[in-house]
Amino acid sequence: GCEDDEISVSEAPSKEATYKPAEEEAGEEPIKIGFSMDTLLEERWLKDRELFKQAVEDLGAEVEIIAANGEDALQVWQAERLIERGIDLLVVVPHNAEATATIVERAHDAGIKVISYDRLVKNADVDLYVSYDNELVGELQAKAITSLAPKGKYVYIGGAETDNNAHLMKKGVFKVLDPLIEKGDITVVYDQWTKDWVPTNAQKNMEEALEANDNQIDAVISANDATAGAAIQALDAQGLAGKIPVAGQDADLAAAQRIVTDTQTLTIYKPIQALAETAAELAVKLAKGEEVEEDRTVNNGKVEVPSVLLSPIAVSKSNIVETIIDDGFHTKEEVYQFV
Ligand code: BGC
Repeated sequence: GCEDDEISVSEAPSKEATYKPAEEEAGEEPIKIGFSMDTLLEERWLKDRELFKQAVEDLGAEVEIIAANGEDALQVWQAERLIERGIDLLVVVPHNAEATATIVERAHDAGIKVISYDRLVKNADVDLYVSYDNELVGELQAKAITSLAPKGKYVYIGGAETDNNAHLMKKGVFKVLDPLIEKGDITVVYDQWTKDWVPTNAQKNMEEALEANDNQIDAVISANDATAGAAIQALDAQGLAGKIPVAGQDADLAAAQRIVTDTQTLTIYKPIQALAETAAELAVKLAKGEEVEEDRTVNNGKVEVPSVLLSPIAVSKSNIVETIIDDGFHTKEEVYQFV
């Protein structure tokens, strides 16, 4: 349930109250990281939560985690509570890229640095961004799908418009599609965002796309596996599941199962452990006041944010074993249970 995500008010005295004489420095309070998450409704974020917690604790620090169930005002409120409770650094997965700028301001007012995790907070002085190369996610999807369906009618099921990643992925997809569109090989007959990444919204969009085109669709690129699953349900209702290539991302278990049973063609695997560990390590460093130097930056509309971008991996039936299964992301038994 969600109860264990709520902040209990009994712990952590405020920083002012933790004065200790210098001799006692060895027994100093551990670094405390706050982790403000958008949602725990999707499989990947549960992994992020567990792996980030583990990684922070392995570094001898503490973490307090709270999720906002996709509500902007709640996410800001929760972050404010974490700040009040004396965290040393805040890590944020923004639900809304713009609305969370307030969180960065509040944290900075309290002298706390902010790391944007997986998704970038826009128009704010974010201290560090740790993610995957999200534009490459889209490129990998489109490269794989265009090699299977080099011509025809494409449907693009986008992510949430309020999520910067959705824009980056779309940019990557169209980087590959545009030259083919110009040549006249490909037509994108449907292209919509999916409000809040909610699968039922994606399903409705896919149904609309099918209806508007008399089911004459040749390929689907969907911004993640949850929305791809919804699109595949819509295809299935028309007897089309498995007949045309579909791409998603996240390497969700259900997607891995669809890949080995041939209803989904491709997913993009982003090893969450690497993301969680990198973010945890950098969070603890920044919290200790150590310098972290990153050679990449990403512009968030206000500043060039120092960034660490890990590499996503395209996964189809042919390499599923040596990627997500060998990595222990999912077991072979669970992936192949419906084969
Ligand atoms: C993440 C995806 C995820 C999506 C929906 C994106 O920002 O990068 O991995 O599927 O949000 O939660």
